[in-house]
Amino acid sequence: MKKIFLLFFVLATGLAIHAQPDTSHVQVTTFNVNDATEHWLNTLSGAARAKSDAYFEGGYWLILWNTLYAVFVGAIFLLGGLSKRMKAIVDRVKNVNIQNLLYALLYFILSWILLFPLSIYQGYYREHQYNLSNLTLGGWFKEEMIGLSVGVILGSILLTLVYFAMRKAGNKWWMWAAGICIVFITFIVFVAPVFLSPMFNDYKPLAEGPLKQQILSMARANSIPAENVYQFDASKQSDRVSANVSGFGSTTRISLNDNLLKRCTPAEIRSVMGHEMGHYVMNHVYKGLFEMSVLLVVLFAFINFVFNLITRRYGDRLGVKEISDIGSLPLLAVLFSLASFVFTPVTNTMTRTQETEADMFGLNAAREPDAEAHVDMMLSEYRKIDPGYWEEIFFYDHPSGRNRVHMAMQWKAEHLNEIK
Ligand SMILES: [Zn+2]
Repeated sequence: MKKIFLLFFVLATGLAIHAQPDTSHVQVTTFNVNDATEHWLNTLSGAARAKSDAYFEGGYWLILWNTLYAVFVGAIFLLGGLSKRMKAIVDRVKNVNIQNLLYALLYFILSWILLFPLSIYQGYYREHQYNLSNLTLGGWFKEEMIGLSVGVILGSILLTLVYFAMRKAGNKWWMWAAGICIVFITFIVFVAPVFLSPMFNDYKPLAEGPLKQQILSMARANSIPAENVYQFDASKQSDRVSANVSGFGSTTRISLNDNLLKRCTPAEIRSVMGHEMGHYVMNHVYKGLFEMSVLLVVLFAFINFVFNLITRRYGDRLGVKEISDIGSLPLLAVLFSLASFVFTPVTNTMTRTQETEADMFGLNAAREPDAEAHVDMMLSEYRKIDPGYWEEIFFYDHPSGRNRVHMAMQWKAEHLNEIK
């Protein structure tokens, strides 16, 4: 796979067009955006393209299977009597908040066990089937354990708070639940770069050298605190090239992974960093949190409506009467999964819009359209490169490879007389 991308790079060098220094006033007509885009897209073909398409399209089905599986797990809790037994156990404690905390702990652990067949298939076996994972089974399991531990602790505290608010707020519980979740998510986004991400990978300041100087120069040019550039050992998980901007306020940082450092040229790394800096400069973390907040309020209002409909008719059969009773949790979880499924195109479009903006910023900041196009091709190792219009809206949390390469080539066409 990696060799194929080296080949792409060799082919790509044929695309470079150098403007004559004395013809800056002349309209260059030799560069055709659509032809250049097709040329890049054709560097992914045959078996490699079929594999990328199959992997990504399989992901569409996984969204559905995950939702249906969540309904199945909910049925085990509610109709299989598991929830009633858990209630009987935690009811031995007097304090209702402790009862809820214990129920939530049990719920998270049992859900993880019930969901395990699907998680090991999609997280481990499927990734290896497509040669997209470097984790051993032991390594994968260790990460699952870390994730479970963090999830159980944080999730149980969150749910105890939400159920406390439910008892106090009555019919307006959904507003309070949304509010608590928003504060909680904001807290997680803030602490994640410092406490959570280092549980999975080693983060260290980007190594000294010319590359670091180039990135710091770009950062200064875009008013980004220059010391916040990190590198991390993502190669232990996969060969995927990636970087991210995480945290906010004092924990904001730009991190690039070691695959990017190993597999990409300095120009390509600069183009990726330009994209990440775009997220930073355009305050995408804050905007994302705001959009997520609006969505959560809508989501909880929707869940409240459906919950009332269901429990009025089937409450006795499901053993769920009061929403403020912790026994309502499995039903709420099922409704949350169904609502998330319905809102998939909305959440994808929210992130895809930001990613498109960051691409645009990155092109202007790095001024490396061909390097950008080559990275876009690398990212198409695991993301179908040329989807249909609606397919992209429904399933893509980043722009498709075709759209990204086209944007880069359009930028190039408009700057032929300026770029090196
Ligand atoms: Zn991005």
